[in-house]
Amino acid sequence: MKKLGVDTLKKFLRWWSAASEVFASFATKEEIDRVQRAFARVLFRLPDKSFRRFISFKPYFLCSPRADAAIWRFRPKVQPGQRYADVRIIYLPPDFNEYSDERLDFAIAHEVAHTVLDHNPLQYKTHRSEAESDVDALLKEWGFTQPKKAWRGERD
Ligand SMILES: [Zn+2]
Repeated sequence: MKKLGVDTLKKFLRWWSAASEVFASFATKEEIDRVQRAFARVLFRLPDKSFRRFISFKPYFLCSPRADAAIWRFRPKVQPGQRYADVRIIYLPPDFNEYSDERLDFAIAHEVAHTVLDHNPLQYKTHRSEAESDVDALLKEWGFTQPKKAWRGERD
Protein backbone atom coordinates (compact mmCIF):
# COMPACT_ATOMS: atom_id res chain seq x y z
CA MET A 1 0.00 0.00 0.00
CA LYS A 2 1.28 3.47 -0.83
CA LYS A 3 1.98 5.97 1.90
CA LEU A 4 -1.27 7.49 3.05
CA GLY A 5 -1.25 11.29 3.31
CA VAL A 6 -3.51 13.20 5.71
CA ASP A 7 -5.03 14.96 2.71
CA THR A 8 -5.97 11.67 1.04
CA LEU A 9 -7.53 10.40 4.24
CA LYS A 10 -9.50 13.62 4.72
CA LYS A 11 -10.79 13.48 1.15
CA PHE A 12 -11.80 9.87 1.61
CA LEU A 13 -13.69 10.56 4.85
CA ARG A 14 -15.45 13.60 3.41
CA TRP A 15 -16.54 11.61 0.36
CA TRP A 16 -17.57 8.67 2.54
CA SER A 17 -19.88 10.61 4.82
CA ALA A 18 -21.92 11.89 1.85
CA ALA A 19 -21.71 8.70 -0.23
CA SER A 20 -22.87 6.40 2.56
CA GLU A 21 -25.75 8.49 3.85
CA VAL A 22 -28.59 6.51 2.25
CA PHE A 23 -26.88 3.14 2.75
CA ALA A 24 -26.32 4.03 6.40
CA SER A 25 -30.05 4.60 6.85
CA PHE A 26 -30.85 0.91 6.38
CA ALA A 27 -27.61 -1.07 6.81
CA THR A 28 -26.31 -2.42 10.11
CA LYS A 29 -23.31 -0.80 11.77
CA GLU A 30 -21.27 -3.90 11.00
CA GLU A 31 -22.17 -3.69 7.29
CA ILE A 32 -21.40 0.02 7.14
CA ASP A 33 -18.02 -0.42 8.82
CA ARG A 34 -17.17 -3.37 6.62
CA VAL A 35 -17.97 -1.53 3.39
CA GLN A 36 -16.09 1.56 4.55
CA ARG A 37 -12.98 -0.51 5.27
CA ALA A 38 -13.27 -2.24 1.88
CA PHE A 39 -13.61 1.06 0.01
CA ALA A 40 -10.63 2.41 1.94
CA ARG A 41 -8.51 -0.64 1.04
CA VAL A 42 -9.44 -0.28 -2.62
CA LEU A 43 -9.20 3.50 -2.99
CA PHE A 44 -5.89 3.81 -1.14
CA ARG A 45 -4.35 1.36 -3.61
CA LEU A 46 -5.20 3.61 -6.55
CA PRO A 47 -2.67 5.97 -8.14
CA ASP A 48 -3.31 9.56 -6.98
CA LYS A 49 -4.74 10.62 -10.31
CA SER A 50 -7.38 7.86 -10.31
CA PHE A 51 -8.16 8.45 -6.63
CA ARG A 52 -8.77 12.15 -7.22
CA ARG A 53 -10.88 11.45 -10.28
CA PHE A 54 -13.07 9.00 -8.37
CA ILE A 55 -13.60 11.45 -5.50
CA SER A 56 -14.38 14.31 -7.92
CA PHE A 57 -17.36 12.33 -9.30
CA LYS A 58 -18.79 12.06 -5.77
CA PRO A 59 -20.49 8.71 -6.39
CA TYR A 60 -23.07 7.45 -3.89
CA PHE A 61 -23.28 3.82 -3.12
CA LEU A 62 -26.13 1.54 -2.27
CA CYS A 63 -27.15 -2.04 -2.30
CA SER A 64 -30.58 -3.27 -3.25
CA PRO A 65 -32.18 -6.70 -3.42
CA ARG A 66 -33.15 -5.84 -6.98
CA ALA A 67 -29.75 -4.78 -8.31
CA ASP A 68 -26.53 -6.71 -8.73
CA ALA A 69 -23.17 -4.94 -8.54
CA ALA A 70 -23.33 -2.12 -11.06
CA ILE A 71 -22.93 1.57 -11.61
CA TRP A 72 -25.77 3.84 -12.50
CA ARG A 73 -25.94 7.47 -13.62
CA PHE A 74 -28.79 9.85 -14.00
CA ARG A 75 -29.09 13.55 -14.59
CA PRO A 76 -31.95 15.12 -12.66
CA LYS A 77 -32.69 18.76 -13.12
CA VAL A 78 -32.22 20.13 -9.65
CA GLN A 79 -34.43 23.19 -10.08
CA PRO A 80 -36.26 24.68 -13.03
CA GLY A 81 -33.82 26.66 -15.13
CA GLN A 82 -30.81 25.03 -13.49
CA ARG A 83 -28.21 22.79 -14.99
CA TYR A 84 -28.59 19.05 -14.66
CA ALA A 85 -26.84 17.36 -11.78
CA ASP A 86 -24.74 14.32 -12.65
CA VAL A 87 -25.63 11.69 -10.05
CA ARG A 88 -23.61 8.49 -9.94
CA ILE A 89 -24.42 5.46 -7.87
CA ILE A 90 -22.35 2.38 -7.19
CA TYR A 91 -24.43 -0.67 -6.31
CA LEU A 92 -22.99 -3.50 -4.29
CA PRO A 93 -24.48 -6.95 -4.69
CA PRO A 94 -27.27 -7.53 -2.12
CA ASP A 95 -25.43 -10.51 -0.60
CA PHE A 96 -22.11 -8.66 -0.35
CA ASN A 97 -21.86 -9.45 3.34
CA GLU A 98 -21.35 -13.13 2.50
CA TYR A 99 -18.29 -12.26 0.44
CA SER A 100 -14.78 -12.73 1.72
CA ASP A 101 -12.82 -9.48 2.10
CA GLU A 102 -10.86 -10.35 -1.02
CA ARG A 103 -14.04 -10.86 -3.09
CA LEU A 104 -15.64 -7.71 -1.69
CA ASP A 105 -12.55 -5.64 -2.52
CA PHE A 106 -12.54 -7.00 -6.06
CA ALA A 107 -16.25 -6.28 -6.57
CA ILE A 108 -15.76 -2.72 -5.32
CA ALA A 109 -12.61 -2.22 -7.39
CA HIS A 110 -14.54 -3.31 -10.50
CA GLU A 111 -17.24 -0.68 -9.97
CA VAL A 112 -14.66 1.94 -8.98
CA ALA A 113 -12.90 1.25 -12.30
CA HIS A 114 -16.16 1.78 -14.22
CA THR A 115 -16.58 5.07 -12.36
CA VAL A 116 -13.01 6.27 -12.99
CA LEU A 117 -13.43 5.37 -16.68
CA ASP A 118 -16.58 7.50 -16.71
CA HIS A 119 -18.66 4.68 -18.15
CA ASN A 120 -22.28 5.26 -18.87
CA PRO A 121 -24.46 2.21 -18.26
CA LEU A 122 -26.99 3.53 -20.76
CA GLN A 123 -24.44 2.81 -23.48
CA TYR A 124 -23.77 -0.73 -22.25
CA LYS A 125 -26.18 -2.29 -24.67
CA THR A 126 -23.86 -1.54 -27.53
CA HIS A 127 -20.46 -1.21 -25.85
CA ARG A 128 -20.66 -3.63 -22.96
CA SER A 129 -17.80 -6.01 -23.80
CA GLU A 130 -15.53 -3.11 -24.71
CA ALA A 131 -16.33 -1.41 -21.39
CA GLU A 132 -15.66 -4.62 -19.45
CA SER A 133 -12.27 -5.17 -21.13
CA ASP A 134 -11.29 -1.59 -20.31
CA VAL A 135 -12.21 -2.28 -16.68
CA ASP A 136 -10.18 -5.51 -16.65
CA ALA A 137 -7.15 -3.70 -18.08
CA LEU A 138 -7.39 -0.91 -15.50
CA LEU A 139 -7.78 -3.39 -12.62
CA LYS A 140 -4.64 -5.14 -13.81
CA GLU A 141 -2.80 -1.81 -13.93
CA TRP A 142 -3.94 -1.10 -10.36
CA GLY A 143 -2.73 -4.56 -9.27
CA PHE A 144 -6.04 -6.27 -8.55
CA THR A 145 -6.49 -9.91 -9.44
CA GLN A 146 -9.71 -11.87 -9.55
CA PRO A 147 -10.11 -14.05 -6.43
CA LYS A 148 -10.11 -17.73 -7.31
CA LYS A 149 -12.18 -19.17 -4.47
CA ALA A 150 -15.88 -19.94 -4.81
CA TRP A 151 -17.74 -16.74 -4.29
CA ARG A 152 -20.71 -17.50 -2.06
CA GLY A 153 -20.76 -18.39 1.58
CA GLU A 154 -16.98 -18.13 1.72
CA ARG A 155 -16.73 -15.62 4.53
CA ASP A 156 -15.02 -17.02 7.65
ZN1 LIG B 1 -18.53 -4.31 -15.22
